[in-house]
Amino acid sequence: MDSLVVRSSECFVMKPLILHSAIRLAVELFLSTLLIVTLASFCAFSPVLSQGDPAFEWHLLYLKIRDSQISREEALARLKALEPLLKDRYLKSWNRKSEDRLTFPLRGYGPTAIGGNGGSGYQPKGYDFFDGNRHKGHPGHDIFIRDKNQDSLDDGTGKPVEVSSVSSGMVVSLNLNWESSSPIRGGNYIWVFDPMKSRYYYYAHLNEIQVKVGDIVSRRDSLGTVGRTGIKAHPKSSPTHLHFVVHESIGGYPKPINPYQELVKAERK
Ligand SMILES: [Zn+2]
Repeated sequence: MDSLVVRSSECFVMKPLILHSAIRLAVELFLSTLLIVTLASFCAFSPVLSQGDPAFEWHLLYLKIRDSQISREEALARLKALEPLLKDRYLKSWNRKSEDRLTFPLRGYGPTAIGGNGGSGYQPKGYDFFDGNRHKGHPGHDIFIRDKNQDSLDDGTGKPVEVSSVSSGMVVSLNLNWESSSPIRGGNYIWVFDPMKSRYYYYAHLNEIQVKVGDIVSRRDSLGTVGRTGIKAHPKSSPTHLHFVVHESIGGYPKPINPYQELVKAERK
């Protein structure tokens, strides 16, 4: 009889204990699942934009160079240190291509859209990457679209003109939401670094931008659309165009090169 009482009272003590443990286990399981799901979604949708990521570090550094907030010496030293990290990150990505041929940066257009005669728009004299927004010269090519009424739509198709990535690489900086009160010359621009060729591609005066810092892009991928952003591209006196520059990194120092012949031979999209 005694033993029955004891067993019966043990049952009463055990039941709440088991129940309590079960609830705790369930809560712990729920919390860990929540943590895993949150981390996984963060990794899936925000793979970059964090301190310590070389692409984002490059973006932050470029803002300082653009806005003359860093000395040339310090900026160059930091660029030199960042390049191998960018390359390392690129080599670990799913896309590690190096192509000889460029894709023409405007979909539906070809070399006849390049301003000047035989590439005369390329005027690198006086240009220095580290002068940022105050740079001199014109170290690239303007590539014009058919847009008489300056609505940034192709007069022939009535649609925006796609800016395609000329090569594979990594988006290392961009500017969004340019407004006419902004002094930024490039307006809405994108920088893509190709670690395989140690080149920086600069696309300026865009309307929409469809990539983000840290994105790995393939040749032919759409980066955005041609627009009229930037202090010199915005006024009516300027026909709608893409400003396209290629820099080659010489020991970490981005120096402009003339891509005219490569654009002439480029694959058309
Ligand atoms: Zn230009």
